[in-house]
Amino acid sequence: MKKLLCPQCKVSALYVKNGQGDRRSVYVTDDYRVVPRNDGESLEGFDLETVYCLGCSWSGSPRRLVLR
Ligand SMILES: [Zn+2]
Repeated sequence: MKKLLCPQCKVSALYVKNGQGDRRSVYVTDDYRVVPRNDGESLEGFDLETVYCLGCSWSGSPRRLVLR
């Protein structure tokens, strides 16, 4: 399993948001699964269609992430 990277700055550190504006740190696998970075955290209620990069201003669909 590989982690996908931001298409702009090539980091794997991403986050998702919910309707309340809370953030969860995640990574995305090469089969496009969004996985919480911290064990035991739930992504219930979070919008997994848009991921945000922690390294730059990029955000978008997990499908737009790159392998390298
Ligand atoms: Zn980035």
